[in-house]
Amino acid sequence: MEKRGGTPSPSPRSTEKSGKDLTRSGDANGGAGAGGNATPKGDKEKGVNVQVILRCRPLSDDETKGNTPVVISCNERRREVAATQVIANKQIDRTFAFDKVFGPSSKQKDLFEQSISPIVHEVLEGYNCTIFAYGQTGTGKTYTMEGGGTRKAKSGELPTDAGVIPRSVRQIFDILEAQCAEYSMKVTFLELYNEEITDLLAPDEPRFPVLPVPEDKNKKPIALMEDGKGGVFVRGLEEEVVYSAGEIYKILDKGSAKRRTAETLLNKQSSRSHSIFSITIHIKELTHESEEMIKIGKLNLVDLAGSENISRSGARDGRAREAGEINKSLLTLGRVINALVEHSGHVPYRDSKLTRLLRDSLGGKTKTCIIATISPSVYCLEETLSTLDYAHRAKNIRNKPEVNQKMMKSAVIKDLYSEIDRLKQEVFAAREKNGIYIPRERYLQEEAEKKAMTEKIEKLGVDLEARDKQLVELKELYDAQMLLSAELGEKLEKTQKDLEDTRHALHDLEEKYSEAKSTIKEKEFVIFNLQNSEKSLVDCAYNLRAELENAAADVSGLFSKIERKDKIEDGNRSLVQRFRSQLTQELDALHKTVSTSVMQQEDHLKEMEDDMQSFVSSKDEAAQGLKESIQNLKALHGSGITALDNLAGEIDMNSQTTFEKLNSQVQSHTSDLEKCFGVIALGADNLLNELQCSLSKQEERLAHFANKQREV
Ligand code: ADP
Ligand code: MG
Repeated sequence: MEKRGGTPSPSPRSTEKSGKDLTRSGDANGGAGAGGNATPKGDKEKGVNVQVILRCRPLSDDETKGNTPVVISCNERRREVAATQVIANKQIDRTFAFDKVFGPSSKQKDLFEQSISPIVHEVLEGYNCTIFAYGQTGTGKTYTMEGGGTRKAKSGELPTDAGVIPRSVRQIFDILEAQCAEYSMKVTFLELYNEEITDLLAPDEPRFPVLPVPEDKNKKPIALMEDGKGGVFVRGLEEEVVYSAGEIYKILDKGSAKRRTAETLLNKQSSRSHSIFSITIHIKELTHESEEMIKIGKLNLVDLAGSENISRSGARDGRAREAGEINKSLLTLGRVINALVEHSGHVPYRDSKLTRLLRDSLGGKTKTCIIATISPSVYCLEETLSTLDYAHRAKNIRNKPEVNQKMMKSAVIKDLYSEIDRLKQEVFAAREKNGIYIPRERYLQEEAEKKAMTEKIEKLGVDLEARDKQLVELKELYDAQMLLSAELGEKLEKTQKDLEDTRHALHDLEEKYSEAKSTIKEKEFVIFNLQNSEKSLVDCAYNLRAELENAAADVSGLFSKIERKDKIEDGNRSLVQRFRSQLTQELDALHKTVSTSVMQQEDHLKEMEDDMQSFVSSKDEAAQGLKESIQNLKALHGSGITALDNLAGEIDMNSQTTFEKLNSQVQSHTSDLEKCFGVIALGADNLLNELQCSLSKQEERLAHFANKQREV
């Protein structure tokens, strides 16, 4: 403040001085009525989700040297992070999706340009925006927010490892310079440790030596005040006006220096403390009526305490709180997020200073972004998973961003003048009287406040008495109630028993009900199936009927055919019978003919036998006659021979004459013989002819008989 008083602002844009109202957390619009709200309607009604960005740092040199296994893989394109866990030899991958994912090789510039730059634009539109860095210690929260250690780069350029804070400041200046706007930028930088606020930009020596000095000389405890309009502000917080982007490092160094001193004193305090860097911008605008208005935007950049504290102290919650409320703010932040995500009615903003300060950034009118930082190392996996869960949950918080109401420039100036006056009086009093001096006006005001307080105390005393009386009455009432409650207790027990029984019964009924339900379901299913089959059956029946009709026609045709066939068969039968009778008749006739013919044959054979016998006997007789004639012939022949012999002797006597007589006798005998032989030969010839004739006759007869037989 002295510095600011001593160096009157030369720059045309530095029209602002410090003002307590402007350090108010949340909105600076003071909740007054009309105008200046440029929020789109949709945003206002539905709200916008908190934007959650995930950043995974690369392995450190030590980790690389130690061959630390990497268990995190980032897919920037799909905005996903996968953590590989091995549980009981099984690999389990858990994947989380975020609004943006920046892998180990991502650059500070990329993160800023892709995710933070749009937020800075909104701040310049007049929104309040907050960016949180959340994560385990050593995962790069401070690296992301403030940057690596490099402070200097080529002329005017930011170093490549510059974080979100210097880049935001740089961008704000660049944009406003390009617009040739009239503006001013102020920053505050505070630390919250153990529910105590420290101003990281306060000058080292106490401003008012007469005031009691806190134990830690570098730190001045600062009160959080209600502004009476639902917000809070940090009273007496140092505000540094920034004139150029380059200055931001001076301020950061100043703050970090304070933090560093504290770190050595308080055992790695930075991992347990939160730091809030706030940038407030006032921009002059001209309305159509040429009225000068001031547009106000605010950017809070919050580097939270290491998240390992929350999980670890969560395990032994009670003791941690006893140990000095170290993590109260971080725990409360978690509870606030849970309450907002689960839409439970009460959101415990008031339970910690951090949530009081940033109330508007969580479920309020502020646009909020959370950068969750993780390490890729297997040794941090547990913390990493808890960070991923936490960040993923926070995605569901909805804010309803509203543009800050613009202020008339004249009103701002008036406010500032009265503030300057108040401060001047304080300075004057302090310097002149070398002790505590309170200006008359302030004195009167405080006296009046004191009087009001006394009155209030008196009133409270009276109230207390009344309360005491009430307490006695209540005690009596309490006793009566106790009796009643004992009675009721008994009743309750009985009722509970009954209830238990009823519950059992109900349980049984429920079981039966569910059984019945399932059976009904089954039945329904069966009925449905039956209906379907019925339908198909009906269809089949229709088809069958048609087919049956056809078949009936066929059958009647068949019947008529059968009738016809029967008739034919009857005809056939009578025919067969007739044929049979004829056949028997004919057979009888045949039999008769055969027997007659057999008889005839027998007759024939007899005749033939007779014929043959008569023939044989006739032949015998002929042969006997032939024999007799031959014997006669023989005797004749013998007598002839003896006559010849007698003649031969007479021949011998009579020689020639007798010879001649002999000759003539031999000749007559020979012709007689020839005549006899001719008769015999004729008789034999006739016999033979007769025999032949009767044989051929017999032959003919046999042939005829044989023919007849064949014919039969
Ligand atoms: P935190 O603030 O979360 O405790 P730091 O920001 O102090 O963590 O980071 C721890 C170390 O890791 C620092 O040395 C820092 O330079 C380094 N680091 C963190 N994030 C990155 C990153 N994205 N790229 C390179 N180095 C990083
Ligand atoms: Mg840090």
